[in-house]
Amino acid sequence: MTKSTPAELFANDSTVVNVAVPVPLARHFHYRCATVPPCGTRLKVPFGNRSLVGFSLGAATAVNTEFELKPIHAVLDDEPLLPPAVWGLLQWAAEYYQHPLGEVLNHGLPVLLRQGEAASYKTTEGFRVTEAGLAIELNELRRAPQQQRLLAALRNGPMLRRDITAQEFSNAALKALQEKEFIESFQHAPQTNADWSFAIGSEPLQLNPEQALAVAAIGAASKPQTYLLEGVTGSGKTEVYLQAMAEVLRKGKQVLVLVPEIGLTPQTLRRFQKRFAVPIVMLHSALTDRERLDAWLDAKNGGAAIVIGTRSAIFTPFKRLGMIIVDEEHDNSLKQQEGFRYHARDLAVVRGQKEQVPVILGSATPSLESINNVAQQRYAHLQLTQRAGGAKLARQTVLDIKQLPLKGGLSVPLIEQMRKELERGQQVLVFLNRRGYAPALLCHECGWLAQCRRCDAYYTVHQRQQMLQCHHCGDQQRLPKQCFDCGSTQLVGRGTGTEQLEQTLADIFPEFPVLRIDRDSTRRKGSLAKHLTAATENKYPILVGTQMIAKGHHFPHVTLVALLDVDGALYSSDFRAAERLGQLITQVAGRAGRASAPGTVVLQTHHPEHDLLQDLIHNGYAAFARSLLRERQLTQLPPFAQLALFRAEAHEAGQAQSALEIIAAQLPEHPEVFVLGPMPAVMERRAGRYRYQLLVQCQQRGLRQQLLQHTLAKLENLPELRRVRWSLDVDPQDFS
Ligand code: ADP
Ligand code: ZN
Ligand code: ZN
Repeated sequence: MTKSTPAELFANDSTVVNVAVPVPLARHFHYRCATVPPCGTRLKVPFGNRSLVGFSLGAATAVNTEFELKPIHAVLDDEPLLPPAVWGLLQWAAEYYQHPLGEVLNHGLPVLLRQGEAASYKTTEGFRVTEAGLAIELNELRRAPQQQRLLAALRNGPMLRRDITAQEFSNAALKALQEKEFIESFQHAPQTNADWSFAIGSEPLQLNPEQALAVAAIGAASKPQTYLLEGVTGSGKTEVYLQAMAEVLRKGKQVLVLVPEIGLTPQTLRRFQKRFAVPIVMLHSALTDRERLDAWLDAKNGGAAIVIGTRSAIFTPFKRLGMIIVDEEHDNSLKQQEGFRYHARDLAVVRGQKEQVPVILGSATPSLESINNVAQQRYAHLQLTQRAGGAKLARQTVLDIKQLPLKGGLSVPLIEQMRKELERGQQVLVFLNRRGYAPALLCHECGWLAQCRRCDAYYTVHQRQQMLQCHHCGDQQRLPKQCFDCGSTQLVGRGTGTEQLEQTLADIFPEFPVLRIDRDSTRRKGSLAKHLTAATENKYPILVGTQMIAKGHHFPHVTLVALLDVDGALYSSDFRAAERLGQLITQVAGRAGRASAPGTVVLQTHHPEHDLLQDLIHNGYAAFARSLLRERQLTQLPPFAQLALFRAEAHEAGQAQSALEIIAAQLPEHPEVFVLGPMPAVMERRAGRYRYQLLVQCQQRGLRQQLLQHTLAKLENLPELRRVRWSLDVDPQDFS
């Protein structure tokens, strides 16, 4: 790579280049240069007293000559950094989400490229087994199971450090093996333009008729399109992905697989690795910046056959993209909730159209948006209604807990039902979506509740650490000994969290070990993988978990799943609450059962007669979702309306509210546009700031886009808005 020196650039700096700079302003900026760098190359430019990395948008026309323009500092790329498809996707996204192009382009890059680093490889570190490591009996490492597993993995072939991290092996295990000289490190220089040829690892499974139909439909399509693969939990969606991918890989094309944050576990990777003997690259949050850039380059050069990543992987460049798969397409983690707020699933569909490749959206509980797109014939529908391998879906039941005494959130009938399963040697899963010991600390004398200093929320009690913790802002306090109001020492936890549930279960069932899987119990690197393996292998008869266990993993020995508290969502003000509840219940229920022992799901509720619950358990998610969709149509809510949400935050409530009033005043009147608010957010104060919302609703996307564009252009120049943090969310998912 050649970098132009300033001297060259200034030799004849009569031309002007248009630059997208990563700042929160919707316009582009002009700079002087000798010759105009090609559109899409990165430039280093002065901005205020900083130096920023922006993108050339080509020669500027209609330059305002009143101001003296600054020269660019450097040209960082010889040719456009991104292939046209990704460049086009980012432009499209900037326009659709009404977010400044400079920030969007910046967001689409690995961190090192944002910082101006060259788009080229450095050598990376790999590890391989030594003679001594081959000679030793694996059993001798049984005291150090991490080392044992890692050595076993490396005996199958050398691995890059980044892949070792991806499989959640700890650095300590790596170091220990190195010190014992069972393994050694080497420098691996990745090859540019690396080529691979297609090879199958393990043989594919024999497809059942529904799976075969799905794979055939995707393969036979005359023209690439988007598919909704709606398959009940355990129906073998992954097998459909694998076999559809095989056809693409066979032609030498690459596949992008998007997965939700939590699903990106070693299990996923192993399943792909087992099937295909081709280079697979993972893009996940544990990578270092360098590793991420190398993985990005592997995709761009064509060296990676399969790229598996979370939402931002949608911006990965490919040399020969052949297919995009979005697993768990309904999952909320595919939506970026801050800064540049995009939905990776929706961008996947756009990208598929732009690059003319098929897109498969898979889920057991599809979003209403995708179901509607099937109804409108925008997506083709592929259905798997049966569980693969003969397992039955769990039977769902509601348990009325009105007036029943609860022990750590468990009713007596539930405890008895659990006992029966446990005594028959079966495994039981108890789901509670609240980590910690208790969701609030209460004074038994005066009723005082410990409230977060910075939020409209109570502190969660974490007994083991003797701490109060706010789950909204992260604030922590030592667990007080006395009430702040009356000084009483009678402080008790109110309600139940997973930590308490674990203890209660251990007391009730001393003979059956309990394993808790939540964010607190899996903080240490490698512990999630370890816990999940232990859970799958039935080492713990009782599993307790939060939504961490609701996704993807299958626990074949579980025959009873209990959800302790489903009431919260039944009367929520969020119009998506019912959809989310249906998805959650169905996904948690889907963790259970195998052919020989079908499962049962118990929903503890105070509202057993509630229509939503009845509809869900009697008719199943597919029917439930379609009746919700009809309701959305009647009430003109998404996907039958287009929403945009302005949010504002300030240290004073009045400031946030008036900022949104100013924005509302700028919105043009239109008979088909409804504006709601400003109104306080459900949690009005969070992390010390007051939060307000302004909702814009209309029928047509085009109208929404025009309206927002028109309004945003005016907002940038309003000084009143500079004192508050405000943002725009197009297609908002979260109203909390
Ligand atoms: P999903 O992703 O739909 O939840 P999975 O792909 O994880 O389902 O499949 C569930 C289980 O069924 C896995 O253990 C898988 O190996 C098995 N399976 C999938 N397809 C078949 C098939 N055609 N024949 C036998 N077993 C299958
Ligand atoms: Zn008190
Ligand atoms: Zn807080």
